[in-house]
Amino acid sequence: MPTRLRALLASILLLAFTSLAAAQTQQQPTQPPRSFMAPQQPTQAEQQNFPPLLLQQLSAIKAAALNDDYAYRQLTHLTENIGPRPSGSVQARGAAEYVADELRKLGLDVRLQPVTVPHWVRGAETAALVEYPGMVPGTTQKIVLTALGGSSSTPPDGITAEIITVSTFEELTALGRDKVAGKIVLFNAVFDKQKASAGLAFAAYGETVRYRGAGAKAAADLGAVAAMVRSVGNADYRLPHTGFSFPAGIPAGAVTTEDADLIVHLAAEGKVRMHLTLTPQKLPDETGYNVIADLKGSEHPEEVVVVSGHLDSWDLGTGAIDDGAGVVIAMETGELLQRLHLRPARTLRVIAWMDEETGGAGSRAYSAEYAAEFAHHIAAIESDSGAAHPLGFEVKANPTVMELLRPVQSVLLSTGASALQPTAFPPGADITAMSDAGVPAFGILQDGRTYFNYHHTAADTLDKVVPNELRENAAAMAVMAYALANMKEPLPR
Ligand SMILES: [Zn+2]
Repeated sequence: MPTRLRALLASILLLAFTSLAAAQTQQQPTQPPRSFMAPQQPTQAEQQNFPPLLLQQLSAIKAAALNDDYAYRQLTHLTENIGPRPSGSVQARGAAEYVADELRKLGLDVRLQPVTVPHWVRGAETAALVEYPGMVPGTTQKIVLTALGGSSSTPPDGITAEIITVSTFEELTALGRDKVAGKIVLFNAVFDKQKASAGLAFAAYGETVRYRGAGAKAAADLGAVAAMVRSVGNADYRLPHTGFSFPAGIPAGAVTTEDADLIVHLAAEGKVRMHLTLTPQKLPDETGYNVIADLKGSEHPEEVVVVSGHLDSWDLGTGAIDDGAGVVIAMETGELLQRLHLRPARTLRVIAWMDEETGGAGSRAYSAEYAAEFAHHIAAIESDSGAAHPLGFEVKANPTVMELLRPVQSVLLSTGASALQPTAFPPGADITAMSDAGVPAFGILQDGRTYFNYHHTAADTLDKVVPNELRENAAAMAVMAYALANMKEPLPR
């Protein structure tokens, strides 16, 4: 039996089983609150929007996704065969060409949209404490650190200066130029591990990432000769976390959390001086590419549903969780629909964004060219929070959308991806412009408890992705995308 037919039969069987299970559930005397699952009887609006055939197709997509290794194979190629994909690099360009070819093989209508991207490359990065209380004469202490994207360079043989530590911008301002000029500033804002392990990893990140982004500029404005930030993440393996820092004209780095603690402890006892060598280079801008691939809608080709992730990564690891995973699950949405011969009623657009990490040039280029069509962009989905077990979606849209999508929640319930969590912020950096223009925006909400152990470190590698969890993510994206592309009425704005 051809694999295709076998998969289809399997999904029909699964569908029958799912309906039976649903019928049994309905007989239970106690029901979860209405907001957590579909009502027992679909409302008239739900029946019109999600006729039985569509619900069957959504279940078939889910079943096929949960048995599909397409996304994992693509992620393997992106991370192990191509490797790190920083903006402006030859790997980023190679990755765009590879993804475009793969989507063409699926039969999608593909274009490479040129994007002017920055090109910053890492150089030497070493540091040591050369003066501190209790120092045994003639010794130093190594500091583990990495340059932040956008950092300026020290001279080749480095600089030596006293370190001052602050926890907040307010503390820095209070010190004033007299105490800051000529020094190396360490921002020691602590990423809250407990918050992360309690499920609020992105809240912990949001509280501290501002120092990585804007710390160097604030320090430079007061005459500092370099700025360091405590790594924004929660691992205990002395790994520095890189990331974007607004270019401030001074060297900017991230020390590990362990080294931040060390410096803070010693600085509380007395004077600490550091020798620092960071020699990154800002090279001329390069041309990169967004990959844009359409599966034309059969009824409303002008209406577009976007599924996306970003193709560029940081250079330290191989960008598996950030964000190769997002790209490959978006690719798999195209693969699943083609393999199951499901033609979307509206156009499904797969986008692999360039330059999310160092300024968002890809997203800006897309807006510049397509903004006039945003009125017909029915929805945009991005996955950029890792590859762990999906819990559902963050949704920035008209509040009535939550009710309208209850049938989709029911389909996704068995994968865990059934939560629809309203958010006030665009749930994906690359879909921000669309979201701000009123396009209903969805971000897959993954279990983020370990995401910031690896985020932007050398440990963001393929082994951190659990194949079955990647399949669940692919199922969530494909089911939601096909629902949005095929529900009778487009989502209200
Ligand atoms: Zn990312």
